[in-house]
Amino acid sequence: MTDLPIRDELRGVEPYGAPQLDVPVCLNVNENPFPPSEQLVADAARAVAHTVRGLNRYPDREATTLRERLAGYLDRESGVALRTEQVWAANGSNEIMLQILQAFGGPGRTALSFAPTYSMYPEYARDTSTRWVVGRRDDDFSIDAETALKAVAEHQPSVILIASPNNPTGTAVPLDTVTALHEATDGMVVVDEAYTEFRRDGVPSALTLLADHPRLIVARTMSKAFAFAGARVGYAAASEQVIDVLRVVRLPYHLSAVTQAVAVVALEHAAELQARVAQLREERDALAAWLRGIGLEVADSDANFVLFGRFADRHAVWRSLLDHGVLIRETGPDGWLRVSVGTPEETTAFREALVEVLKEHT
Ligand SMILES: *Cc1c(COP(=O)(O)O)cnc(C)c1O
Repeated sequence: MTDLPIRDELRGVEPYGAPQLDVPVCLNVNENPFPPSEQLVADAARAVAHTVRGLNRYPDREATTLRERLAGYLDRESGVALRTEQVWAANGSNEIMLQILQAFGGPGRTALSFAPTYSMYPEYARDTSTRWVVGRRDDDFSIDAETALKAVAEHQPSVILIASPNNPTGTAVPLDTVTALHEATDGMVVVDEAYTEFRRDGVPSALTLLADHPRLIVARTMSKAFAFAGARVGYAAASEQVIDVLRVVRLPYHLSAVTQAVAVVALEHAAELQARVAQLREERDALAAWLRGIGLEVADSDANFVLFGRFADRHAVWRSLLDHGVLIRETGPDGWLRVSVGTPEETTAFREALVEVLKEHT
């Protein structure tokens, strides 16, 4: 490996990702615990069979039908009407983010975010040779607008990445902060709304800002609320001009015909999936209340996971939970752990295991 002529910044770097372990209760990567319904499975199977008959041809490069359906979904979900040309789709919002940095980052340019935040952002920056700078979030994981504007003035980023709700903390960023950042920069402002369907009542989506903010991009995914992580479908909403720039950097035929077909079917089942989301939001609030009730600190969450702590030795707590058959995530600031909201049975297993583990560790 060391003999290979690899880029200096990749030398000695291990591929990154959460451990994929075979454990009875997996609450570590914020997946939706409910599999697609049998009706969705049947509809998707029919769509795949139809698509496979045409796999000798390249897929629709512009994913037009899918983008049209995504626009329809966003209108129903957030009340924001967008044209198909304002929506873009790719293999997960990971690819969307990479395309954004390919188009707006690059050598000599800077991407700015506020930590603790999503651990994949620095990788997209590295892979596009974009300088990566992080400002700090406050102790309650909110972004202080004044601190943020100072960081913008100092680093002159061409891309600002804000996860809202944030991973791993669950914190939603007020729209005032987004508009202040947009005003303070001539770069792009990206709001990563991977978890936004789980937001609490009264928390708005940054989609409502798109009409007046030409350098805003709202990134979303079907991986979380849509229970479709394995299909790899992410998307972005922005001005038509911004989407046209993303179309320049995308790989030819980047989104397979099969992916497009199953995503369209899943969107037809959005109502059924939204009922599950409502249930998960309730479970999340109950889990947060329970954790507080046993004396732990919990970050307010608008997502489908909860960050809780603090532990003098969080690794020991994580490890003991794993010994009890429950895999959660050791991530975020030291002392904290993150647990995804599972089925009621999984959450019960987590709670029972945690009670046992805390006895062992106190
Ligand atoms: C899970 C997650 C995503 C989703 O990534 P996909 O590639 O769409 O699966 C995006 N952003 C954040 C912050 C996430 O936690």
